[in-house]
Amino acid sequence: DIDAALLLRWLDAVTSVIEQEADHLTQLDSPIGDADHGANMRRGFRAARTALEQEPPDTPGAVLVAIGRQLISTVGGASGPLYGTLLRRAGKALGDAPAVTAAELRDGLRAGVDGLVQLGGAKLEDKTMVDALLPALDAFTAALDAGGGTEQAVTAAASAAEEGATATTPLRARKGRASYLGDRSIGHQDPGATSSALLLTTLADTVR
Ligand code: ADP
Ligand code: MG
Ligand code: MG
Repeated sequence: DIDAALLLRWLDAVTSVIEQEADHLTQLDSPIGDADHGANMRRGFRAARTALEQEPPDTPGAVLVAIGRQLISTVGGASGPLYGTLLRRAGKALGDAPAVTAAELRDGLRAGVDGLVQLGGAKLEDKTMVDALLPALDAFTAALDAGGGTEQAVTAAASAAEEGATATTPLRARKGRASYLGDRSIGHQDPGATSSALLLTTLADTVR
Protein backbone atom coordinates (compact mmCIF):
# COMPACT_ATOMS: atom_id res chain seq x y z
CA ASP A 1 0.00 0.00 0.00
CA ILE A 2 0.97 3.59 -0.58
CA ASP A 3 0.91 5.93 2.41
CA ALA A 4 1.92 9.54 3.13
CA ALA A 5 5.41 8.52 4.29
CA LEU A 6 6.12 6.80 0.98
CA LEU A 7 5.03 9.85 -1.04
CA LEU A 8 7.08 12.13 1.21
CA ARG A 9 10.13 9.93 0.52
CA TRP A 10 9.29 10.23 -3.18
CA LEU A 11 9.14 14.02 -2.89
CA ASP A 12 12.54 14.04 -1.24
CA ALA A 13 14.06 11.80 -3.90
CA VAL A 14 12.40 13.68 -6.76
CA THR A 15 13.67 17.01 -5.49
CA SER A 16 17.23 15.63 -5.52
CA VAL A 17 16.83 14.03 -8.94
CA ILE A 18 15.43 17.27 -10.40
CA GLU A 19 18.35 19.12 -8.82
CA GLN A 20 20.77 16.74 -10.59
CA GLU A 21 18.89 16.79 -13.90
CA ALA A 22 17.98 20.51 -13.97
CA ASP A 23 20.74 21.45 -16.41
CA HIS A 24 19.79 18.59 -18.73
CA LEU A 25 16.10 19.57 -18.67
CA THR A 26 17.01 23.17 -19.39
CA GLN A 27 19.28 22.05 -22.26
CA LEU A 28 16.37 20.10 -23.77
CA ASP A 29 14.19 23.21 -23.42
CA SER A 30 16.71 25.43 -25.20
CA PRO A 31 16.37 24.43 -28.90
CA ILE A 32 12.56 24.09 -28.72
CA GLY A 33 11.62 26.35 -25.80
CA ASP A 34 12.93 29.11 -23.59
CA ALA A 35 15.58 27.18 -21.64
CA ASP A 36 13.88 27.23 -18.26
CA HIS A 37 12.28 23.82 -17.74
CA GLY A 38 14.99 22.62 -15.35
CA ALA A 39 14.86 25.86 -13.39
CA ASN A 40 11.05 25.74 -13.27
CA MET A 41 11.00 22.18 -11.97
CA ARG A 42 13.74 22.90 -9.46
CA ARG A 43 11.95 25.95 -8.09
CA GLY A 44 8.65 24.10 -7.77
CA PHE A 45 9.97 20.97 -6.12
CA ARG A 46 12.27 22.86 -3.76
CA ALA A 47 9.29 24.91 -2.61
CA ALA A 48 7.19 21.78 -2.22
CA ARG A 49 9.84 19.96 -0.20
CA THR A 50 10.31 22.95 2.11
CA ALA A 51 6.57 23.42 2.63
CA LEU A 52 5.92 19.74 3.31
CA GLU A 53 8.90 19.39 5.64
CA GLN A 54 7.40 22.15 7.76
CA GLU A 55 3.94 20.63 7.77
CA PRO A 56 3.96 17.00 6.63
CA PRO A 57 0.45 15.90 5.58
CA ASP A 58 -0.65 12.54 6.97
CA THR A 59 -2.52 11.05 4.03
CA PRO A 60 -1.22 10.27 0.52
CA GLY A 61 -4.01 12.40 -0.98
CA ALA A 62 -3.05 15.41 1.10
CA VAL A 63 0.63 15.00 0.13
CA LEU A 64 -0.21 15.15 -3.58
CA VAL A 65 -2.61 18.08 -3.17
CA ALA A 66 -0.01 20.04 -1.21
CA ILE A 67 2.76 19.40 -3.78
CA GLY A 68 0.39 20.39 -6.57
CA ARG A 69 -0.51 23.61 -4.82
CA GLN A 70 3.18 24.52 -4.41
CA LEU A 71 3.91 23.84 -8.09
CA ILE A 72 1.01 26.02 -9.19
CA SER A 73 1.96 28.90 -6.93
CA THR A 74 5.73 28.90 -7.53
CA VAL A 75 6.29 27.86 -11.16
CA GLY A 76 5.68 30.55 -13.74
CA GLY A 77 6.01 28.27 -16.77
CA ALA A 78 3.39 26.03 -18.38
CA SER A 79 4.70 23.00 -16.51
CA GLY A 80 3.71 24.41 -13.07
CA PRO A 81 -0.04 24.58 -13.62
CA LEU A 82 0.02 21.36 -15.67
CA TYR A 83 1.87 19.21 -13.11
CA GLY A 84 0.12 21.11 -10.30
CA THR A 85 -3.27 20.21 -11.72
CA LEU A 86 -2.24 16.59 -12.22
CA LEU A 87 -1.10 16.22 -8.61
CA ARG A 88 -3.97 18.17 -7.05
CA ARG A 89 -6.60 16.21 -8.97
CA ALA A 90 -4.86 12.94 -8.20
CA GLY A 91 -4.67 13.85 -4.52
CA LYS A 92 -8.33 14.82 -4.37
CA ALA A 93 -9.30 11.56 -6.04
CA LEU A 94 -7.45 9.63 -3.31
CA GLY A 95 -9.61 11.31 -0.68
CA ASP A 96 -8.56 11.10 2.97
CA ALA A 97 -7.64 7.43 3.16
CA PRO A 98 -4.50 6.84 5.31
CA ALA A 99 -3.17 4.45 2.64
CA VAL A 100 -4.22 3.45 -0.87
CA THR A 101 -3.76 0.39 -3.06
CA ALA A 102 -1.88 0.42 -6.35
CA ALA A 103 -5.23 0.35 -8.21
CA GLU A 104 -6.45 3.36 -6.22
CA LEU A 105 -3.22 5.21 -6.96
CA ARG A 106 -3.65 4.40 -10.66
CA ASP A 107 -7.24 5.72 -10.58
CA GLY A 108 -6.01 8.87 -8.87
CA LEU A 109 -3.24 9.39 -11.42
CA ARG A 110 -5.73 8.84 -14.22
CA ALA A 111 -7.98 11.56 -12.79
CA GLY A 112 -4.92 13.79 -12.54
CA VAL A 113 -3.81 13.18 -16.12
CA ASP A 114 -7.40 13.80 -17.29
CA GLY A 115 -7.26 17.16 -15.50
CA LEU A 116 -3.92 18.00 -17.12
CA VAL A 117 -5.28 17.10 -20.58
CA GLN A 118 -8.39 19.19 -19.96
CA LEU A 119 -6.24 22.16 -18.99
CA GLY A 120 -3.60 21.88 -21.73
CA GLY A 121 -5.62 20.34 -24.53
CA ALA A 122 -2.73 18.14 -25.71
CA LYS A 123 -3.37 14.84 -27.46
CA LEU A 124 -1.07 11.88 -27.86
CA GLU A 125 1.85 12.71 -30.22
CA ASP A 126 1.55 16.48 -29.77
CA LYS A 127 5.10 16.22 -28.31
CA THR A 128 4.32 17.04 -24.68
CA MET A 129 4.42 15.42 -21.24
CA VAL A 130 1.18 13.67 -22.23
CA ASP A 131 3.27 11.40 -24.50
CA ALA A 132 5.01 10.03 -21.40
CA LEU A 133 2.02 10.09 -19.04
CA LEU A 134 -0.65 8.31 -21.10
CA PRO A 135 1.53 5.29 -22.00
CA ALA A 136 2.61 5.18 -18.34
CA LEU A 137 -1.01 4.89 -17.20
CA ASP A 138 -1.67 2.15 -19.75
CA ALA A 139 1.41 0.21 -18.65
CA PHE A 140 0.41 0.64 -14.99
CA THR A 141 -3.01 -0.85 -15.75
CA ALA A 142 -1.57 -3.68 -17.85
CA ALA A 143 0.79 -4.64 -15.03
CA LEU A 144 -2.05 -4.70 -12.50
CA ASP A 145 -4.23 -6.72 -14.87
CA ALA A 146 -1.37 -9.22 -15.22
CA GLY A 147 -1.46 -9.71 -11.45
CA GLY A 148 1.44 -7.42 -10.55
CA GLY A 149 1.63 -5.41 -7.33
CA THR A 150 2.63 -1.80 -6.71
CA GLU A 151 6.29 -2.38 -7.52
CA GLN A 152 5.63 -4.11 -10.85
CA ALA A 153 2.99 -1.57 -11.86
CA VAL A 154 5.06 1.50 -11.02
CA THR A 155 8.16 0.00 -12.66
CA ALA A 156 6.20 -0.75 -15.84
CA ALA A 157 4.77 2.79 -15.81
CA ALA A 158 8.25 4.27 -15.45
CA SER A 159 9.66 2.31 -18.40
CA ALA A 160 6.68 3.25 -20.56
CA ALA A 161 7.18 6.92 -19.65
CA GLU A 162 10.87 6.73 -20.59
CA GLU A 163 10.00 5.15 -23.93
CA GLY A 164 7.27 7.74 -24.47
CA ALA A 165 9.72 10.56 -23.76
CA THR A 166 12.29 9.17 -26.20
CA ALA A 167 9.58 8.73 -28.82
CA THR A 168 8.82 12.49 -28.76
CA THR A 169 12.07 13.24 -30.63
CA PRO A 170 10.82 12.72 -34.22
CA LEU A 171 7.47 14.41 -33.53
CA ARG A 172 6.45 17.92 -34.57
CA ALA A 173 5.18 19.90 -31.57
CA ARG A 174 1.54 20.91 -31.66
CA LYS A 175 1.19 22.36 -28.14
CA GLY A 176 3.20 24.72 -25.96
CA ARG A 177 6.10 26.94 -26.94
CA ALA A 178 7.76 24.28 -29.11
CA SER A 179 4.73 24.40 -31.45
CA TYR A 180 5.75 27.94 -32.52
CA LEU A 181 8.74 26.30 -34.25
CA GLY A 182 6.66 24.05 -36.49
CA ASP A 183 8.89 21.57 -38.36
CA ARG A 184 11.97 22.92 -36.58
CA SER A 185 10.75 21.23 -33.40
CA ILE A 186 11.42 17.86 -35.07
CA GLY A 187 14.55 16.02 -33.88
CA HIS A 188 14.51 17.22 -30.26
CA GLN A 189 13.24 15.35 -27.21
CA ASP A 190 10.46 17.12 -25.32
CA PRO A 191 11.62 18.46 -21.94
CA GLY A 192 8.25 17.96 -20.21
CA ALA A 193 7.97 14.34 -21.35
CA THR A 194 11.50 13.87 -20.03
CA SER A 195 10.65 15.30 -16.61
CA SER A 196 7.50 13.14 -16.46
CA ALA A 197 9.69 10.08 -16.97
CA LEU A 198 11.97 11.28 -14.14
CA LEU A 199 9.01 11.67 -11.77
CA LEU A 200 7.93 8.10 -12.48
CA THR A 201 11.36 6.43 -12.48
CA THR A 202 11.94 8.07 -9.10
CA LEU A 203 8.59 6.74 -7.86
CA ALA A 204 9.64 3.26 -9.00
CA ASP A 205 12.96 3.62 -7.16
CA THR A 206 11.11 4.78 -4.05
CA VAL A 207 8.67 1.88 -4.07
CA ARG A 208 11.43 -0.74 -4.53
P1 ADP B 1 7.26 27.07 -20.53
O1 ADP B 1 7.06 26.42 -21.86
O2 ADP B 1 6.14 27.95 -20.13
O3 ADP B 1 8.61 27.72 -20.42
P2 ADP B 1 8.31 24.72 -19.18
O4 ADP B 1 9.52 24.96 -19.98
O5 ADP B 1 8.51 24.55 -17.72
O6 ADP B 1 7.23 25.86 -19.43
O7 ADP B 1 7.56 23.40 -19.67
C1 ADP B 1 7.54 23.05 -21.03
C2 ADP B 1 6.88 21.70 -21.17
O8 ADP B 1 5.50 21.79 -20.84
C3 ADP B 1 6.89 21.16 -22.59
O9 ADP B 1 8.11 20.45 -22.84
C4 ADP B 1 5.68 20.26 -22.65
O10 ADP B 1 5.98 18.93 -22.28
C5 ADP B 1 4.77 20.84 -21.60
N1 ADP B 1 3.62 21.52 -22.19
C6 ADP B 1 3.56 22.77 -22.68
N2 ADP B 1 2.31 23.06 -23.11
C7 ADP B 1 1.57 21.95 -22.88
C8 ADP B 1 0.19 21.59 -23.09
N3 ADP B 1 -0.68 22.46 -23.61
N4 ADP B 1 -0.22 20.36 -22.70
C9 ADP B 1 0.66 19.49 -22.14
N5 ADP B 1 1.94 19.76 -21.92
C10 ADP B 1 2.40 20.96 -22.29
MG1 MG C 1 10.33 26.56 -20.92
MG1 MG D 1 9.16 29.60 -19.62
